[in-house]
Amino acid sequence: MPIAANSVVAIAYSVANSDGQLIDRSQPGQPLLYIHGSGQIIAGLEAALVGHQVGDKVGATIAPEQGYGVREEGLDLEVPREAFPPDAPLEEGFRFQADHPTEEGRQVVFTVHEIEGDTVRVSGNHPLAGQTLSFQVEVVSIRPATADELAHGHVHGEGGHHH
Ligand code: ZN
Repeated sequence: MPIAANSVVAIAYSVANSDGQLIDRSQPGQPLLYIHGSGQIIAGLEAALVGHQVGDKVGATIAPEQGYGVREEGLDLEVPREAFPPDAPLEEGFRFQADHPTEEGRQVVFTVHEIEGDTVRVSGNHPLAGQTLSFQVEVVSIRPATADELAHGHVHGEGGHHH
């Protein structure tokens, strides 16, 4: 069966940035499983994979708009420590949701990158925002998702969730 909406797809992949630097790869024998069409992988990669069969090797170069988004300078912020609640567990990697600094009604997930004295440097950009990504993918397996998987929104069984 070709990859289509609600397929459970296993892919072996590697991904590099525009400098050719390897960013991430699946480990041998441990493909990434996802439910196709559900937004679990970036939009550009779903678009590149649809219709492919087991064993297909797919190369895809994906622009930021179809990947992790365009980098927004306005989301790299320095915030005074007192802007946080006293009990906030402030440390590198701490994530929190807050209003977008200029776009009303839009929520952004920020990550704390650095704490220096009373200054907290945070970013609402995904680490890969603004990057054009080159994927090399091999389709390892394809099967229809079960009703339970669709209801839960994730893959069950080997390589997926165990309840
Ligand atoms: Zn589940």
